[in-house]
Amino acid sequence: MSPSPGKEYRRYKKFQKEQEEKWEAACKRCGACCGAVEGDPCDYLEYAGEGEYKCRDYANRFGRHHSRGGQKFRCVPVREILHKSWAGDKNCAYKQGVLL
Ligand code: SF4
Ligand code: SF4
Repeated sequence: MSPSPGKEYRRYKKFQKEQEEKWEAACKRCGACCGAVEGDPCDYLEYAGEGEYKCRDYANRFGRHHSRGGQKFRCVPVREILHKSWAGDKNCAYKQGVLL
């Protein structure tokens, strides 16, 4: 017997949530993708201590932002920029393929 659509949906949502948590846990919080290494970081980037950084409004981060120096840019999901390079990206967990 095949599962009901509701069951499939719940299973998919659970899988999606687990994947998201796995990705979040893998991030080293180095802040490099937010400009911490490059020298003109996003205005929302805050130092959290012990070499780690955090976003001031992580839940609502996507969209228009500017760096401390006034450069305008869009914050996007990191998976959309993995094919690009940025200062400090050699240390990025996703670039190192920890989840592949
Ligand atoms: S808004 Fe985006 S780029 Fe800026 S600190 Fe938050 S996650 Fe990084
Ligand atoms: S560069 Fe990679 S490991 Fe560092 S904060 Fe960004 S996503 Fe996380």
